[in-house]
Amino acid sequence: MQQLHLSGKRVIMRVDFNVPINTSGIITDATRIEKALASINYILEQGASLQLLSHLGRPLKKLKEDGSIDKAKFSLAPVAKFLSEKIGREVSFIDDCIGAEAVQKSNSIVAGEVVLLENTRFYKEEKKGDALFAKKLADLADVYINDAFGTAHRAHASTAVIAQNFDADAKALGLLMQEEIKQAEAILKMDDKPFTAIMGGAKVSDKLLLIDKLIDRADHIIIGGGMAYTIIKAKAGNIGNSIFEEDRIDDVLKTLEKANQKGVKIHLPVDSIIADDFSNEAKTNVAQSDHIPDGWMGLDIGPKARVDFSNVILNSKAVIWNGPMGVFEMSKFEAGTQAIADSLSRATQNGSYTMVGGGDSVAAINKLNLADKISFVSTGGGAMLEYLEGKDLPGIVAITS
Ligand code: AMP
Repeated sequence: MQQLHLSGKRVIMRVDFNVPINTSGIITDATRIEKALASINYILEQGASLQLLSHLGRPLKKLKEDGSIDKAKFSLAPVAKFLSEKIGREVSFIDDCIGAEAVQKSNSIVAGEVVLLENTRFYKEEKKGDALFAKKLADLADVYINDAFGTAHRAHASTAVIAQNFDADAKALGLLMQEEIKQAEAILKMDDKPFTAIMGGAKVSDKLLLIDKLIDRADHIIIGGGMAYTIIKAKAGNIGNSIFEEDRIDDVLKTLEKANQKGVKIHLPVDSIIADDFSNEAKTNVAQSDHIPDGWMGLDIGPKARVDFSNVILNSKAVIWNGPMGVFEMSKFEAGTQAIADSLSRATQNGSYTMVGGGDSVAAINKLNLADKISFVSTGGGAMLEYLEGKDLPGIVAITS
């Protein structure tokens, strides 16, 4: 972006403003907006006008009962208000990302003016990567910037296809995107040891490929969350009613064998907080993770596992973390995720490199006010993981190739 001549140009920038907004319209975690400010301010300082594009949630998956889009729930309007306060200038909100009003505004926009267009995912063409829809977005501007690292792994109209409409000297990656790529590249090249990767979240199927890849680089892989139980079951443990993916047992066993051959230590939770229901009102207990009684499910790592995992983290020189250790949305099952967040901040203080990515883990870090005690907080969950897996991200390739 710094190589482009932006003065007097109409810039359209894809950002990732997919932030949690509560029912009162309050943004409960503004990390992604705050991380876009560097590019926003840079573009305005160069004397350009700025139109911002983003998605918010999955409006077409969560339609109202009458089958229409819940425009109030998925509107970016609260973001326009928040952003306006952040940058200290008016942010005009257009309640459609294409159409007459957007076109009219793009024709009259002047240097220094900021416009936020409505949720791109109100159109099914967005996710389909529809070329005509992408062209309509592109026609609003002279220059396209992609700063939405969080959606860079998606080949959607506003994240990738749109770029086909701009010459090489009229499209670029924004500052956040550059920083995310720099940090990911640094991790790929890092030879600090011990290197520890922490994986959590619901399903092992989502992250098995990455775990396989990480075995080539990591010394320790800590696995918590629901995904741990498929692995524990693969090792002939009793996991009761814990979440489990039967069709992944063979792949899991192959991955464990690979780790064994390469001398990579896989750490599983020795104990779990178990519950008799998937609810914050459930009865709870502590059990060995491979001795969970029938009718009970593991919903968080247990107290011994917290200590084990913390010790590994505190003895590491580099740590990356993605995914919660339990159902942290419920207070009874948040202690494991909080313990990891806390250990990461302590490891950072001791001079280790730490990186956290993914909505849930970042939310845990923010809830504990530890964001500034982590070396790098990535705005990308899936995008960061895919980058680290060595995949080409469509949002980046669309600009650089
Ligand atoms: P992911 O999107 O794969 O990172 O998974 C995040 C989700 O995993 C969160 O909503 C957690 O509630 C859920 N999760 C974490 N641990 C468990 C568990 N032991 N059982 C069921 N769900 C879990």
